[in-house]
This record gives sequence, structure tokens and C-alpha cells, in this order.
Amino acid sequence: MCGIVGYVGSRQVAPVLLDGLSKLEYRGYDSAGIAVYGDGKINVAKARGRLKVLSEMTDEGKSVSGVMGIGHTRWATHGEPSDVNSHPHVSSSGRFAVVHNGIIENYIPLKKRLMNKGYEFVSETDTEIIAQLIEYYYKGDLLEALIKVIERVEGSYALGVLCSDYPDRFVAVRKASPLIVGVGEGENFIASDVTAILKYTRNVYYLEDNEIVVLSKDSVDVYNTDKEIVNKEIFKVDWDVSAAEKGGYEHFMMKEIEEQPKAIRDTVSARIKDGKIVLDDISLDEKYIKGINKIFIVACGSAYHVGVVAKYVIEKMCRIPVEAQIASEFRYCDPIVSCNDLVIVISQSGETADTLAALKEAKARGARVLSIVNVVGSAIANASDDVLYTWAGPEIAVATTKAYSTQLAVVYLLAVYMAEKLGLLTVGEYAEMVREIQELPDKVAEILKSKEKIQYLASQFYNCHSIFFIGRNLDYAVSLEGSLKLKEISYIHSEAYAAGELKHGTISLIEEGTLVVALVTGNNLFDKTVSNIKEVKARGAVVMAVRTDTHLHDDDIADHVITIPSTNEMFLPSLSVIPLQLFGYYVASLKGLDIDKPRNLAKSVTVE
Ligand code: GLU
Repeated sequence: MCGIVGYVGSRQVAPVLLDGLSKLEYRGYDSAGIAVYGDGKINVAKARGRLKVLSEMTDEGKSVSGVMGIGHTRWATHGEPSDVNSHPHVSSSGRFAVVHNGIIENYIPLKKRLMNKGYEFVSETDTEIIAQLIEYYYKGDLLEALIKVIERVEGSYALGVLCSDYPDRFVAVRKASPLIVGVGEGENFIASDVTAILKYTRNVYYLEDNEIVVLSKDSVDVYNTDKEIVNKEIFKVDWDVSAAEKGGYEHFMMKEIEEQPKAIRDTVSARIKDGKIVLDDISLDEKYIKGINKIFIVACGSAYHVGVVAKYVIEKMCRIPVEAQIASEFRYCDPIVSCNDLVIVISQSGETADTLAALKEAKARGARVLSIVNVVGSAIANASDDVLYTWAGPEIAVATTKAYSTQLAVVYLLAVYMAEKLGLLTVGEYAEMVREIQELPDKVAEILKSKEKIQYLASQFYNCHSIFFIGRNLDYAVSLEGSLKLKEISYIHSEAYAAGELKHGTISLIEEGTLVVALVTGNNLFDKTVSNIKEVKARGAVVMAVRTDTHLHDDDIADHVITIPSTNEMFLPSLSVIPLQLFGYYVASLKGLDIDKPRNLAKSVTVE
């Protein structure tokens, strides 16, 4: 994710780039850099840390002179945040400088090929391959070279490229990563979103995938990969600046809910090759997996709820005992963990203090630790034996949505991977599961299309004082998350209960009109949970049920029914959680609350 800005015109470019990047800070980043063309060469300034560091390093841009340049804020995916991994990346000869947002999935084989040809790489990033490949293919025509590169790389990218042979123009291209072109008078721009350039122009081009733009002071030419000119329509932006910062959404939370199909796809697609799950990033081989005695999953908040899903999924598929534990409990409970146990810790930020402490506790007792985190180079990632990154991009809303969903996706990949290594899946079952995982992003997108229905239901219930969520097994695990989402942002009291447990006490709280959200997605336990629905309805509850399209005829099970697509039962949490996120969001929105920054909560809890 993160940010790109590029400029060509008559102004001193460095301050324009720094200013533009500051408008993109909200996207989250860990380092920043600029490349400026001046006196026949490209000058680069870049540093780990906040923009302030870069600004001080360049005397607020004054020490880097030139009228054309590109800038970048990096949110590391490949290689820790460091000065050398920061963008722009420069080719070996210094002729090309590149900024990149996204992930180049096949950079390893490409890098090996160029290294065999004598190219030297200085960073750990996937991005450096772009600068080197352009150099490799460049025969005097930058456009031609860039086309060759994009035909060979896989993944997602927004790219800005400077070449020292071109004193008056630079190029940019995008695929599955945002990049817009700003058209000014005697000056032109690229940027990840309009906020960065709104101060200078409101005229923009939206680029389609693999459209390449060549920008000079007085011209903007867009080409397709056959080098033919594409005629683009200028779009006039009339957003106010704060709306644009959220990409037009009222809240980051809704933006992030909508980003889930992409986030899941990014997390999954690079790890499935030719129908096989490839977890290159970790070193759990068959021998190790067969020797695992027990798995602990340790985390806090929503990440712990992912752990509860993981318990059901891994136990069912791998037949290894799994215990999901809250990190702040685990660290002080004198846990019985030993060297044959695998401890999986989950944290979006990778800095969660309780989780980090639990990790250290587990390691001190000899266990191997695998972490699932979203932030490269974070404390938890650094302290783990193995890391599986989620590629959700920066998550800004305090209430997690896309990080939770990508954590679930990683859990599925890991569970299926281990089950296969344990010989517990037939070839057909394995292929089917891999396919189902790949289809999840489209199914999530399908649920998001009918969000108005959930908005309507929220409008019926946003004045409730107490709401219950019930379900069995995986449906119970998702109930925990649905209930937490609602509590976090709407401040409505809510409880998640295992559906069969309600009658052992809590059913006394059900009275006329109490809303019960019932998850009935699992086939095996469908009838059991329907009985529990009947029990609460008999005591006056109003029930909103979430079920799959395999139970379409069962419309009378509840007062309101939300239908989600079917998938392998193990993966249903990825789908059933979506209506619950939306419900929490709309309830909070109808109550007029500060959804992105709920009271008393912080995004990354770095204290005990
Ligand atoms: N994958 C690239 C890196 O890790 C780009 C990350 C970004 O989008 O900022 O350097």
C-alpha cells in the first residue's frame, strides 16, 4: 500500500514531493525517500522512519535541486524497514530509479537470473528487481524496456521510474495497486491518491491495469503494452480533501472492510503455485510436523479469535491437539510447553506487548515459535523462528477487519499444508481445499455487494441495550469476533455464547425483544443450533440468523435471515464474519460514533 508521488514541471521538486508524501502518511509507512533528476544524474535521499527524518536530511527538500522527481513512503513487505530497503531503488549503473507500491511475487527467480548474469543487489526488497530488469532490457527506449519488464513480473505494482537519459520526462504504470495521474498547467503529477496533488490540480486520469504513462512538463501520454496511444478522459475531482484521504469512504473501517477481497487475495495468491500451497517463508518440514506434540495459539483480541477458529480447523484437519490461549493469561500461567510443541502467535502490528511476552515465555521453555503478523520487521516477527506475513497492507481503523481476515487465510493455508504433509488428505480433497481458499476473495466480494440489507437490519436494532451472538464450533468462534466488533465501536453490551451453553445460565437474560444473532452455517450442527434458536425465540428473543445458501429453504428459522455463499465448512468463518463486521459498523454509524477511533482503545497495544 503506502504512497507514491511524482512530479515534472518548473517548481523545485523535492518540497513538492515531501508535501505530497505528507498527505499520504495516513496510509501508514515505515520509511520514505525521493529521487530527483538534476545535472544529468539522479540523486536519491531515503531513510527509515518518519518523513521528518527525510525532511531534515534534505533541509526540507532544499538540498536536492531539480524540477523532476519521484517520492515514496514504504510499508515494508519484503525486507525489514531500513535505509537500504527504502525506496527509490536504483539500478547497478545508477541510470534508473524506481519507486514501487505492491508486491512482485516472482522476484526470486528473476533475481537469481540476473545475479547469474553478474547483477549485484543491495537490498532485500522485491522492488529492486524492477530497477535492475529495466536496466537489463533498456536499449535506449525506456517505454520499450518497461513493457518488457511488466510482461515478466507477476503480482501487484504501482511504479514510478526515472532515467538519467531522459532529462525532461519520467514514466509510470500500475497493476492492482492504485496510481492516478494529475494534469496541471505546465506541470504534471502521479500519486497513489488525489490527496497528494489536490493542492495543485483537480484534473486527473485514472489508469487501467498496465497502462503506461509518460509525463513531461507539458504532456501526458498514455500507452498500452503495444505502444499504442490510449485516449483517456480527464476526470474532475470535486471531493473535499478529508474525504479523499479515505479514498472517498466516510471511515477507514468501511474502506478496510471493502479491501478484504484484495487483502485475502494478496495473502493467499503468492503462496499457491500450480495448485500447491508453497510456504517458502517458513521451514516446517514433514519430519518436524509429524513430531509436533501440541500446538498453542497465543494472541489478544481479534487475533485470539482467529486462534479459536484455528483450534477447530487444525484439530479437525491435522488431528494435533491445539489450545488457543489469551496472551496475557498464557504469559503468567506457568504454561506446560516444551520443545516438541509449536507455539503460533498472531498479531497485526507485531508489537503487541502481551503477545511478545508470551512468545518469549514459550521460547524460554524450548518451544518453536511461528508468528502470523502484518508488519515486516516488527518485534514479534524478529523474535520468532518462523514468520508467515499477512499482506493486508496498513490497517488504520482501530477495529480490525482486513487483518483478521488475512490472519484466517494464513491459518487455512497452514492447516491444509500440514494436513497434506501428515498424509491426512487425499489428492482430491487437497485440490478442492486449495481451490476453495482461492475462491474466498470472490465470495467475500459477493457478500459485500448486499451490504444494504445489513444496513437496514442495523437500522432496526441500533437502539438495543444488549445483543447476544450464538453459534456452535466454528460458528461460535466467529460469534466471539462479531460480538467484539459490535462492542468495540457501538458501545452496546454484547455477549458471545456457545449456542448449547446458553441454557446453562445465560438464557435468563433473554427477554421480550432481545436481539440474538445466530450463526448457523455449519451443516453438521445446523439442526442443533436451530433448536437453540427455538429456545430463545420461545422466551421472546428476536433472531437474526446467518446461514449458507445450502439452507435456502430454511427461511422460517429466524425473524431475519442473512445468506452467505457456501464453501468448505472449515473456511466458512471468512464469509460469516463479513455480515457481522458490517452490522457492527452500521450500528455504530447510525449512533453517530467515532468509528475509526473508539473511546478508550488503541490500535496497537504495546503496553501490558
Ligand atoms: N514490496 C515493496 C517493499 O517491500 C513495496 C512495499 C510498499 O508498497 O511500500 O519494499
